Amino acid sequence: MLPEIVLKHKKEESLLRLHPWVFSGAIKTLPHDLQEGDLVAVLADDGTPLGTGYYQIGSIAVRMLSFNEAKPIDHDFWRARLKAALALRESLGLLRADNSAFRLVHGEGDRLPGLVIDYFDGVAVMQAHTVAMHRLRHELAEALADVLGDSLKAVFYKSEGTLPYKANTGAKDGYLYQCPEFDDADAMAIENGLRFRIDYAEGQKTGFFIDQRDNRALLRRYANGKRVLNLFGYTGGFSVYALQGGARLVHTVDSSARAIALSEENVGLNFPDTDRHEGIEADAFRFLQGGPTAEYDIVVLDPPAFAKHRDVLRQALRGYTRLNEAALRHIPAGSLLFTFSCSQAVSREQFRLAVFTAAARTGRHVRILHQLTQPADHPVSIYHPEGEYLKGLVLHVE
Ligand code: SAH
Repeated sequence: MLPEIVLKHKKEESLLRLHPWVFSGAIKTLPHDLQEGDLVAVLADDGTPLGTGYYQIGSIAVRMLSFNEAKPIDHDFWRARLKAALALRESLGLLRADNSAFRLVHGEGDRLPGLVIDYFDGVAVMQAHTVAMHRLRHELAEALADVLGDSLKAVFYKSEGTLPYKANTGAKDGYLYQCPEFDDADAMAIENGLRFRIDYAEGQKTGFFIDQRDNRALLRRYANGKRVLNLFGYTGGFSVYALQGGARLVHTVDSSARAIALSEENVGLNFPDTDRHEGIEADAFRFLQGGPTAEYDIVVLDPPAFAKHRDVLRQALRGYTRLNEAALRHIPAGSLLFTFSCSQAVSREQFRLAVFTAAARTGRHVRILHQLTQPADHPVSIYHPEGEYLKGLVLHVE
């Protein structure tokens, strides 16, 4: 029997609509000896069972794993969830000879709240966002080995930066599993036929931003003969696609020397002899001073999340406005701006308003050609709109 959490009167409604979170204010009683990360049964005030989840200290007190399915949360449960996640990616056509990078698990979007797994050519990079998923990491790695079979080369656990700081888990990043022949020196993945070095151990997040795959492919379509500026370029994803699309020159700007080195390495992996690319280590805001965008036909703005929490929302929106204004002001007539926000706390409308404000300040004619989002391997449960985080606009500037 699992420990039981009983909700206050009428607080079961969101769970009945399959929203997977229980906020702490909705709880009437919980066991005294409950530990963070414990599995729990959730009951309505009248005793009706609502499902099974796990407990976390914080405003989201429970994340639901199943809604009143009779199944226990055991090895078979994890295996079934991971198998379903893999089947979706297979059906999306993401496992091909020329594509070996995809997000295998996207948290609530795969009914596995608190868990992210990115797959890079046989290496599964696992990110736990909650104590429960941290405690379950070995069980999850075993289930992954079952589901992926021989194609699994290694499971790398990358959660030091994503677990709640206060939980004091003592988590260390490192391998949970490696097959005997595995050599991490050549961790590489192919995305849409292009090769990328994946630095999951030292790199940001899981080492590579898979979520821009479709948007990079869109840039490739427009890049022929163009001069492209890729700001906040990280591993140079947009840059490599632009080069493949026939860009005349591509400049990758990032404040991290390591990111610039990675972007240059990735350009070299795909275009060994090219002189069309230059990596520039610089702060993007400072780089934009003086209006260098006058020299480019396409500018990509893909900054890190400016708002990690709701309380810094206003400041974040001002940041997006300032950045977009700086990019739009001097860009030549007829050019394109690919502009993004990956802040979950910033809604699609708020981001558009921030970019609108930037455009209005320049007084230029700006049209929206595309409205972009995250790709299909980052699915959003319709009951959990919070799972949507990536927003982008392709603007045509006159
Ligand atoms: N566009 C990338 C992902 C960007 S991640 C892709 O498609 O993969 C954000 C990047 O912004 C990181 O590499 C980080 O080093 C860089 N960054 C953060 N602040 C910056 C700043 N002020 N100026 C330039 N780069 C910055």
